[in-house]
Amino acid sequence: MFGKYEFAVIGLGPAGCLFLACLPDDVWPRTLVFDAGGVGGVGGDLGCRYGNVRANLTRAELAKAFWAIPRWVSEPLPLLLGDADPDTCPLLSVVCDQLREIMKPILARVTLHSQHVTSVSQIVGGWCVDYGSGSDSDSSGGSGSGDSVCVPKVVICTGGEPRVLDYSKPAIPLSVALDKVALASYIRPTDCVVVFGTAHSGTLIMRNLREAGCSGITGIYRGSTPFRWSRGHTVDCPCALLGGTGCHDSEGVKQESAAIADAIVRGEWGSATPTLISVTESEALETALNAADYVVYAVGFNGRMPALRGLGGEVLGADYNPGTGQIAPGLWGFGLAFPAMYTKPRGGEAIDVGLPGFAMHIRACIDAIKNG
Ligand SMILES: Cc1cc2nc3c(=O)[nH]c(=O)nc-3n(C[C@H](O)[C@H](O)[C@H](O)COP(=O)(O)OP(=O)(O)OC[C@H]3O[C@@H](n4cnc5c(N)ncnc54)[C@H](O)[C@@H]3O)c2cc1C
Repeated sequence: MFGKYEFAVIGLGPAGCLFLACLPDDVWPRTLVFDAGGVGGVGGDLGCRYGNVRANLTRAELAKAFWAIPRWVSEPLPLLLGDADPDTCPLLSVVCDQLREIMKPILARVTLHSQHVTSVSQIVGGWCVDYGSGSDSDSSGGSGSGDSVCVPKVVICTGGEPRVLDYSKPAIPLSVALDKVALASYIRPTDCVVVFGTAHSGTLIMRNLREAGCSGITGIYRGSTPFRWSRGHTVDCPCALLGGTGCHDSEGVKQESAAIADAIVRGEWGSATPTLISVTESEALETALNAADYVVYAVGFNGRMPALRGLGGEVLGADYNPGTGQIAPGLWGFGLAFPAMYTKPRGGEAIDVGLPGFAMHIRACIDAIKNG
């Protein structure tokens, strides 16, 4: 029933790539990989949607995430490091290019389906993966339309979709708002835009709106103060996992958004200075929304995944164990869809949604998965 394949890995974003790199090389020929974008999907959202955004980690910190994978420990990473200053933050497209390059030998040995997986259903001793129609370069016997394959182990690395809130205003997609050129052709300078979220992405979006000529910008923040993640405060950072300090201030890891946030707070934007409102100030929020032409939601992500069903048809996913990555026996999840938790250097736990965290989590779980 299971044929030659031991693993199906769904999603070739950073998490799927890091997982494949952790597998022993003799397992690659017994691994089936699905990504709706095929080889073009390698790097996932970093390349396809957010390539023009600057990373919130430095080249040196991102390099540590690659080097956390034992087989890559001596890789020179020329596309990421090259002659550039290791303390600068690269565009996400650069991180994606490096990932694509380093993955080439691995992708040459797995079987890649350029297809969308619609569901993963438990059967006795394994899982049945249903995938849809589309171009197909595999050699596993699939016909290319509405097919399925059974494997003992499945790993889900399908990423996430930006979370949206329920305000009845046209929303600018996050990927557009983060791209200066795309945003400039989306809005007019006279438009009023309300940006939900003042962390890294929300801050970059305010800068993009200003550069598009927009002066009617409102930023909505949660918590005691705006820009809590991006400026002037010591923040807990998962870089501690890879030997970093674990805490940063505005000169540190969020350098681009920190500079933007500092300039806003100092009033350097003049008439374009955004109005900053706490989400708890309901009257002010309502007034801003009434005047708004668009909203942008930069408030995190929801996991994106195929339908996951157990033996009795029950929906799976909610019982995911963030420590082991396990969703059910023989089924695991990593990356933005199934993030790990990390303990913050100054106490408490947080969800870990960056490459260093993905690398450390997968590395910690891989032996149990291989032997499971
Ligand atoms: C603006 C922005 C900036 C970020 N900056 C950083 C940063 O600087 N440093 C950092 O460490 N992290 C950063 N992140 C966070 C994180 O690293 C990325 O979000 C990363 O892309 C998540 O990786 P992933 O592998 O979980 O998912 P994705 O990159 O989304 O990859 C998922 C892949 O799965 C495929 N897929 C999805 N569903 C299916 C299906 N049903 N069937 C087949 N294929 C499917 C998709 O085509 C995609 O290729 C950033 C995120 C954003 C949005």
